[in-house]
This record gives sequence, C-alpha cells and structure tokens, in this order.
Amino acid sequence: MGELVVVALGGNAISPAGGTGSAPEQTRNLWASMEQVADLVAEGMDLVLTHGNGPQVGAILIKNEMARDVVPAVPLDWCVANTQATIGFVATTALSHHLRERGIARPVVPLVSRVRVDVDDPALTAPTKPVGPWFSEDEADTRRATDGHVYGPQGERGWRRLVPSPHPRESLDLDAIRLLRDHGAIVIANGGGGIPMVERDGRLEGIEAVIDKDLAAALLAHELEADGLSILTDVEGVAIGFGTADQDWLREVDLATMRAAADRGEFRAGSMGPKVDAACRFVAAGGTRATIGSLDRAGEVVRGRAGTTIVAGDPDA
Ligand code: ADP
Ligand code: MG
Repeated sequence: MGELVVVALGGNAISPAGGTGSAPEQTRNLWASMEQVADLVAEGMDLVLTHGNGPQVGAILIKNEMARDVVPAVPLDWCVANTQATIGFVATTALSHHLRERGIARPVVPLVSRVRVDVDDPALTAPTKPVGPWFSEDEADTRRATDGHVYGPQGERGWRRLVPSPHPRESLDLDAIRLLRDHGAIVIANGGGGIPMVERDGRLEGIEAVIDKDLAAALLAHELEADGLSILTDVEGVAIGFGTADQDWLREVDLATMRAAADRGEFRAGSMGPKVDAACRFVAAGGTRATIGSLDRAGEVVRGRAGTTIVAGDPDA
C-alpha cells in the first residue's frame, strides 16, 4: 500500500455558498470530487476520507426552528450523525462507482463516528461558534428565554445561536477504522468533526457542540500515523493578504513561516484559520506534509501539485 493520506472535503465546497443546497447539487459535487479520489486510489495512494458539514448542519437547524411546534428539535450531536450518514452514503455510492469503473473492487465504508472532547474543556462553557439561522435581537431574546441557548450578534445579518467548539482529543471509533482498513476498506470517518462526546461518570454522552472538522481531520491523520493530510475547500489555497489587492497564494511553506503568518492574523477564525492550524499541528506532530487547496482540483492538491503545501523544514534549505 502506498502513502497514507487523510483527505478532508469541505462542507462549503460540497454545498457552495451561491448554490441552492439541494440534494442533486451536493450529489453532483460529491460525484465530481470522488472521481478524482478514485484516480488517487488507482495510482496506489492509501486514503482515509473525512468531510465538513457546516452548511448541511445549518439546514437541519433551520428545519428545527421551523418545525419546533410539530416535532422535537434534534440536538447537535444528532445533527452531526445525520450529516455523516447522508454525506457518507452519497460519497460511498460515488466513490464505489468510480472505483468499479477503474476495475478496483474495494469496499467503501462511511462510519458514523464519534470524537471525544475533554469534559472540562474551557470552550464548553464559552460558546463561540455561530450556527443555524439568523434572528433579530428580539427574536434571539425570545428564543433564549424558551430554549436556554446562547445567542450573539453576528454583524449586519443579525443574531445567531453560538455553540461551543471544543478541541478534539480522541477518535472514539479508531479501532473500527483500523479494523476496516486492515480488510482493505476505504473508510469515511469523523465527518463534521465527529459526533462530539464527553465521558462523565464512566459513560460517554453526546453534547451540544461542534468540533472543527479540520482539527478532527488532523487528529485522525496523527492517530493513523498518516504521511499526509489534505484539506480540500472552495478556494485554490492559502493566501497572504486574502481579499486585498496584494493577495498572494502560497505554494510551499515551512511550518515556522506559516505559523508566523497565522500569528499576524492572515487567516480568518472559523474558515482558513482552523485549516492552517490543523495543517501545522499535523506537520509539527511528525506528519510529512499537509496540503490545502480546491476541491475542484482534489487530485492535484493531494499530490502536492496545486494548492498550498506545508512542510516541516525550510523547503529551500
Ligand atoms: P470549508 O467548508 O471547506 O471548511 P470554509 O468556508 O470554512 O470552508 O473555509 C474556506 C474559506 O476561507 C474560503 O472560502 C475563504 O473565503 C476563507 N479564507 C479566509 N482567509 C483566507 C486566506 N488567508 N486564504 C484563503 N482563504 C481564506
Ligand atoms: Mg470550515
């Protein structure tokens, strides 16, 4: 088996901001990216897949709001499990098809998978991650009084629910992932950052939080001792001066340079920030290289031929 790479597909790239978010649209995007993933497998690359779910969970939370008087709202851990299943089955169908076309008979297994966070993670009592629909300040006040959730102002569009984003500590289904891999399966795991769980009094329970999928992907890559981590999103790579006249796409960068850029605030919290953080953590912990780039060019990004590559040492030294 060739190099092991953990590949993370962005939730926004599967369901783009300007799109309808419809099932056919997300299916088309997944089929297109899985074709490139199949090419990588055909080349002998050993892959584990994961994916984001921001827009998809957002859609479920909107349904929660609109149907709250008809059916009980589902908690966030259920939302994550739900999106792992839907994105997972579509990706599995697409990847199995493209593999069969290439004469490869390997099972693809989407795993409903959980990630443990620390029960005393300070993030659990300080919700920062905006999710779900926008409300007016009055609506947010009314909701807070009835559902007890935390809401915060989010710029001109109004207020949103804020949920904790704790740090992922342990992939709870790692043994199952290893077992499946040992039998030749291509596994899709830790989708949407994994279902967030804490251990209390010797029991695991799901919590109302979302784990950053980029950090969960880096954790999984580390746990599996992968050679590479690839984070596929909706931009061509990591830019310095993003959105300014001096925007400059980075090609190959060493860890120290990337961390210095992050410290200067080049990468936005909640979007590129966690990707760069995840990539740097993976490389710092001994990973050979991390790449960040466009889902449209998945194959080239995973091979390090497009997008931004982060390596441990100075590439020119
Ligand atoms: P995903 O669903 O793949 O996690 P995100 O929206 O979280 O996607 O992150 C990708 C987004 O990060 C891009 O669409 C871009 O707008 C934003 N971004 C913020 N800072 C940068 C940067 N310095 N370079 C590139 N993209 C950036
Ligand atoms: Mg994101």
